[in-house]
Amino acid sequence: MSAGAFCPICHRLLATSQWNLQDFTACPNCQAPTRTLVFPAMVKPTSSVRPEPRNETEAGCFFHNNSRAENVCSSCGRFLCSLCTLTFGSQKLCPDCIYRRRRQSSEPLFRDQTVLFDNIALLLLVVPVLCLVYIYLGLIFSGFALAIVIIGWRQQRPLVPRSGYRFVLAAALSVIEGVGWIALVWLVVWLIQSHPTDFGL
Ligand SMILES: [Zn+2]
Ligand SMILES: [Zn+2]
Ligand SMILES: [Zn+2]
Repeated sequence: MSAGAFCPICHRLLATSQWNLQDFTACPNCQAPTRTLVFPAMVKPTSSVRPEPRNETEAGCFFHNNSRAENVCSSCGRFLCSLCTLTFGSQKLCPDCIYRRRRQSSEPLFRDQTVLFDNIALLLLVVPVLCLVYIYLGLIFSGFALAIVIIGWRQQRPLVPRSGYRFVLAAALSVIEGVGWIALVWLVVWLIQSHPTDFGL
């Protein structure tokens, strides 16, 4: 065990006999009523990863020849000592295979980054309106956003469950902003044509 629970008042270490009790108990040091709830992982003994040395008749680890092989990599089949064995779900993998699979973004278990197309599309629709760039380039931005919605709808692979409402919102906004921009330009042209003298023409 590497960590403990501490009294929130006097910050002294609390005894493990006080963990996960139904009721509050007094801190042995300051007598403050405390109740300590810990996750089961705190109590689980951590096995040592120090690899066993190998004798002549035993197979050695691919990476540490003097350490006894205890597992075989599920991916490449190399012999691995306890230090080099990395458990991922039901698989035991070597560090090389972890590195390789992390680079292949197709494996969802090893991905830690993703592109959120829906957020990009929404950003392209909201920011131009806020900083008035929309007046000049509204049609371009809404067209871009719609293209990102169409591409991202199939391409986006979020790491956590994510509903599609942002895509729907972005698609609706891009159509509204695109049509709105055309209407705005049409209105300006119409105003200039119907009252040319007001515009010094
Ligand atoms: Zn205390
Ligand atoms: Zn491997
Ligand atoms: Zn090893």
